[in-house]
Amino acid sequence: MSHDAAPRSAAMLRAAIQSVRSSGGQVVPEPEAKAVLRDFGIAVPYGHAGNDVLATAAGLDEPLVLKAVSPTLVHKSDAGGVRVGLRAAELPATAQQMSEELAEHGHRIERFLVEEMAAAGQEVAVGAVRTPGLGWTVMVGLGGVFIEVLADVAFGVAPLTSQQVRAMLRELQGMPLLEGARGAEPLDVDALVALVVRLAGADGLLAAMPDEVTEIDLNPVIVSTSGAVAVDARFVVGGADTAGERPARTAPATTDFSALFDPQTVAVLGASATKSNVANMFIKNLVAGGYAGRILPIHPSADTVEGLPATSSLGHVDGVVDYAFVALPAASVTPALSVEGANVRFAQVISSGFAEIEDGVQLEADLVTTMRSRGIRLLGPNCLGTHSSRARLGFIPDAPFEPGRVAVISQSGGLSVDILRLGSARGVAFHSVTSIGNGADVTAAELVQHFLDDPEIQVVGLYLESLDNARAVLDVLQERADTKPVVLLAGGRTDEGSRAATTHTGALTGNHRLWPALARQAGMVLADSLEDFLNVLLAFDSFDLSDGPWNHDVVLFGNGGGASVLAADALARRGLATPRLPEETIAALDSLGLPPGCGLVNPIDTPAGTLAVRGGAVTEDILTAVLSSSDPAYVITHLNVGIIQRNLAHRFGDVTGTIIDSIARTRDKFDSGTRHLLVLKGDGKPDIDEEIRGYARRASEWGIPAFPEFEDAAIAARALLDHHDFTARKATS
Ligand code: ADP
Ligand code: MG
Repeated sequence: MSHDAAPRSAAMLRAAIQSVRSSGGQVVPEPEAKAVLRDFGIAVPYGHAGNDVLATAAGLDEPLVLKAVSPTLVHKSDAGGVRVGLRAAELPATAQQMSEELAEHGHRIERFLVEEMAAAGQEVAVGAVRTPGLGWTVMVGLGGVFIEVLADVAFGVAPLTSQQVRAMLRELQGMPLLEGARGAEPLDVDALVALVVRLAGADGLLAAMPDEVTEIDLNPVIVSTSGAVAVDARFVVGGADTAGERPARTAPATTDFSALFDPQTVAVLGASATKSNVANMFIKNLVAGGYAGRILPIHPSADTVEGLPATSSLGHVDGVVDYAFVALPAASVTPALSVEGANVRFAQVISSGFAEIEDGVQLEADLVTTMRSRGIRLLGPNCLGTHSSRARLGFIPDAPFEPGRVAVISQSGGLSVDILRLGSARGVAFHSVTSIGNGADVTAAELVQHFLDDPEIQVVGLYLESLDNARAVLDVLQERADTKPVVLLAGGRTDEGSRAATTHTGALTGNHRLWPALARQAGMVLADSLEDFLNVLLAFDSFDLSDGPWNHDVVLFGNGGGASVLAADALARRGLATPRLPEETIAALDSLGLPPGCGLVNPIDTPAGTLAVRGGAVTEDILTAVLSSSDPAYVITHLNVGIIQRNLAHRFGDVTGTIIDSIARTRDKFDSGTRHLLVLKGDGKPDIDEEIRGYARRASEWGIPAFPEFEDAAIAARALLDHHDFTARKATS
């Protein structure tokens, strides 16, 4: 509605920007900025600008506010440029005094702004700043100490829906002040949400701002019991460059990526007939890994490479090359891929020397143009390769090919190796790990889209280092109605992003705030470390997310009282509860006649010896008692495998294995959907660690994820709940 009115102020804003630039100033004058806000339906105080303050006050209701308008005065009240609570009659003298005071500070007053006082309420700062690779990022925070001292602010990425604005507000610690803490009347949060949407919504003011405006601060917006009014408006005019513009949208995926993950013919460019380099290693890995398709070394002169017949150029291959692995010197890549007669679907360029260095920027641009004209989709350059378990296609020796439903995309090549190795040790079965390097053509967002559409994929993992990649993924995710889980590990989250502090928003923006904002908005789970990333992927892969209870209750079961207490604490820190079991359950547990020394109320903790009753099968009795009369979201069984193996195994057999099997069997007796997690703790000795790996595999075959520490299980459990909450909110929006 307000949008039709916008053109009214557009010409005025242009003129104001012109005059700011020509005078070397920084901000659009407040009266003009406020006129623009009003045009977009954002409430501002009723007021007028002029030099004759008494005349200006005509028709305004007291009490009044007097503000100086000066091109050099950015923070008005710091210099005495704001007086509130005035009667009209006081204006001339106050204006005179203000002129003199400001003159002492070297400011010349151009005009005065006289306006009405906004209704009393809570001051909230609302702002936006153009961020390279992201477009407009939006900030909301409560005024006063909340923002000055505590930096209690929440970020979002425009455009924002009202639901997303509400999610931002929920992140604020000071939110209870708006909602009516300590018996106070609740303030008009709806009006605040509407104001932010008029600023940052799809048809909002930000979308209509000329490129020159780089930061906007509405500080404060006063939220009363009946409305939200922007009493100050600062539009910062920056350079004319559009580096902060939102990147172009990813084109919808039109490429069918199935052949990338299931190639029938693989060509390898760059392997030597005499030495062993990365391309030779790739061939060796394919052969050793049991890749069943055709492997074609491409070599200009040799007859054989790594014992396989070589072809002199891609142009001489008969049939289609689904996947070309290219490890040539950077300058040779484009010529080799564009020879007459080449028929290649996907080329993965391992070589570096492209846009990651200044001298390679043009080379990369040329490569992309050429690949596009040949209809070849390019992965990389500057990456390590694509791993596909089903195809037994891998880029590391001895790759884990156990087929799985976890698809990972990594901007870093080295980390993709860690993800494969540590992930498989942790029990993660991969569909694929794709290292995209510079992502010059095929982007993370495009692959995400493919994986969301592929019913074989249960969860997508992303390692990203640049915000523009994340922004493109956000766009893909926001467009979809479904919510397949996506787990994000972000590199470069601690950069404090230093900006000139013309606005609060500018000063407070930084990568460490933007990654969480992006993740929240996209519904991605943001992992804090590689370990968390893998644990959360494992958890998502283990459970059918469509059913089961979604309360916050956990039943803890295992050996060690102290360990149980620590476990309950770890859960509580993540907002999960370990409530006392129903009396009927406690009675059922009691009637099992377990040896003395057990806690039966939740946590259920037993001395290790008790776990050995019936060789471990007592677990079935205990969990049956629990699941017959309660419906927790999770049961977490924690075992000190060191103690069990060293003290009990020789007398009672494979207690750990029996417990694991018992958990699975009991689970299958009930169809409550309670999710079972396992924590397997070692004693720091390698022999037990080795056994734990075996037990983790056994558990994983039953669909039970095993974690090394409580903290890991707690993080994983929380991630599933968060994803469920996001899904539920999205469904109702
Ligand atoms: P500054 O340039 O110093 O940020 P502001 O325009 O924000 O100046 O004014 C300073 C303070 O005065 C505000 O934070 C707010 O508390 C108060 N104020 C300014 N204008 C109004 C108004 N119209 N109604 C009520 N309070 C106001
Ligand atoms: Mg202000």
